[in-house]
Parts: sequence; structure tokens; C-alpha cells
Amino acid sequence: MSEQQQLLFENALTLPPKAIAPVLPHQWLDPPEEPKPTKHEKRAKANGKEYPVRPSHRLALERALDSYRLKLHGYQLETAYYRYTGLSHTIRIRDRKVFVRISHYFEDQPERVVEAVGHILLRKLLSMRPLKKEVELCRAAEQELEDRVPHRPSKKVDPEEGNRHFVAGEGKVHDLHEMKARLCERYFSGQCADVPVFWTAKRVRGYWGKYFQNPTRIVINRRLDSPRVPGYVVESVLYHEILHHVLGIPVVNGRRRPHSRKFREAERRYPLFKEAELFLKEF
Ligand SMILES: [Zn+2]
Repeated sequence: MSEQQQLLFENALTLPPKAIAPVLPHQWLDPPEEPKPTKHEKRAKANGKEYPVRPSHRLALERALDSYRLKLHGYQLETAYYRYTGLSHTIRIRDRKVFVRISHYFEDQPERVVEAVGHILLRKLLSMRPLKKEVELCRAAEQELEDRVPHRPSKKVDPEEGNRHFVAGEGKVHDLHEMKARLCERYFSGQCADVPVFWTAKRVRGYWGKYFQNPTRIVINRRLDSPRVPGYVVESVLYHEILHHVLGIPVVNGRRRPHSRKFREAERRYPLFKEAELFLKEF
């Protein structure tokens, strides 16, 4: 060790320890960039659709954001009330900014309700299930506001004509009207006579059949309108959807539970249920 090195070494030992400033996780990352407002956002601000939230609501939403550690990673919150037509709230994320828009109907709601909305939105963003108590708080507020919110009339679907996505149920191979009439009479004592049934205009992925409540209708995947598909298979899918209509869609703890145990039991009453299920698995 040279004389100079020795000196440095000794100095190092005698110097008081330097305080190390804590480095927060977000300081390791690049500072967030200012997102440029989109055309839509500029327009929303200009025509008064969007306006700043009350400070107490701002804090409530900040609290919600705090609980998901997003701030630690440099995310910032942007909030606004938005004059949506119905009771909607939205969330989206861009350039490390979380944009939360709360329905302007919620402007007079207590902080805990807005905080619950914040949680529901953030959990949706993070693909987490919403918490029961938050959904309940939000529902209660919605119910209270119901008479003040104008309802958008739902678009009717002509049972004869269908629309761009659904076409009349006659089909090329299987006639849904005929099937429905038969099922209705045999298993549902006519309770489903007035439910319009459609084929999808095109073959679709993700479902064989769907039941819609508003307006009421049943839609069956066009893929099943084929000579390779036995009639009992189409009938079984239709039976499942009619069952949704007859039993209704129960809501348990704020979530729709269409396939209750009662439903599953009733579903098995269709004589070729098992065979149809097996066919569809292979199809
Ligand atoms: Zn179902």
C-alpha cells in the first residue's frame, strides 16, 4: 500500500458515515411522461362533459389507488366527473397515468361510495374480483339515484327480421322456431312462447348459445346450423337458453349467477343432455 493509499484508507475509517438518502422504488424508474390529451379528451373538456372532482372525492380515489401500490411504481391519478348518459364510471391507463372518470350523478355521494367505485375500477384494471362490500355500496348508491338517471331505451330486435348480427331462426338446416315450440310445450308448459330465437348471422367463437334479458332473446351460434350437427344437439343448446329465461338470472352478492345448482339439475332433464354435451366437446 502506497503512502497515499494508506492515508485514504485511514481517512475512510475516520470519516463519519455519510447518511444514505432512501431511494424510493419510483425513483429507479424513468419519470412519467406527460400524456398528451387525446382529441376525445380535449373535446370532453371543451364541451363541459368533464369537470374536476371535489377535493374529498379526489382524496377518496387517491386512497383507493394507494392500496394497490401503483403509486410506488410511479403511477399518477387523473380524476374527473363525466356526464355519461347512464350511471357509468370508467378507468384507463396511459403513460403511467390512471384516468378515473366518475359519473357526474355521483357528485353528491359520500366519500366511501366514491372510494368503493375507485376500488371496483382499479380491481377491474388489475383483473381482480371486486369486493362484495364495495359492490354493495355502489349498488345501493345506484338504486338511490335510479329515478334521476334517464334510461336509454334499449334497441328492439325484430323477432322476424333480426338485425345485422342475428338473423331469423329458420336456418338452413335446423329450424329454431320449430324446436322452440316443441321444447316450450313439452318442458316449459308454454312459458317461453314469446322469446324470439335467432341464429347468429355468422359463425362465432366463444359460445353455442346465449340468452339476453334486455330485450329478451335467444341467439344460437350459426356453426350449429349444419347437416353434421344432429337436431338433438341444437335442441339441447336451445333448452339450456330457454331454461335461463324460465328460471331467471339470480344475483348473489351483486354477481349474476346464471348456472345455479337448481339450473344444473333442470338442465339434465333434457333426455339427451349427456350425448349433446359430448358431441359439442368433440365438434
Ligand atoms: Zn348458460
